Amino acid sequence: MTDLSRSVDLPLTLDYIAVSSYGAATKSSGEVKLVKDLDQGLEGRDLLVVEDIVDTGLTLNYLLNVLKARGPRTLRVAALLSKPSRRLVEVKVDYVGFSIDDHFVVGYGLDYNEKYRNLKDIVIYGAD
Ligand code: 5GP
Repeated sequence: MTDLSRSVDLPLTLDYIAVSSYGAATKSSGEVKLVKDLDQGLEGRDLLVVEDIVDTGLTLNYLLNVLKARGPRTLRVAALLSKPSRRLVEVKVDYVGFSIDDHFVVGYGLDYNEKYRNLKDIVIYGAD
């Protein structure tokens, strides 16, 4: 998100919302909980949701419903990664960095059990 924001030449603000669909496992439970809410209001604003990875789409689907209800003027989604073969719900991702096959990946902010976020590259978890 910080890398992306540095290449957007517009007056913008950054805010964070945390939802969790994963416990200590690599399979989605389908259960989504709001872990941390935004600090800023969204009414009348142009909102770009920046997501790390869209897998089943359940998390993003939940998130978009929550955010839409807060009345942004526009709402778009950018995801660094997408795993289209895993989708359980149809969600519109306006900007996709890379579409990948069904692998669990870590690094560049992505974790497994809170580890590996600091890896400079995105790698398949468990690959040699
Ligand atoms: P979804 O609800 O689309 O199934 O899952 C979305 C969330 O699950 C992502 O925001 C991310 O936190 C986590 N996730 C899904 N696939 C992966 C993956 O391959 N690696 C990591 N580290 N997290 C993933």
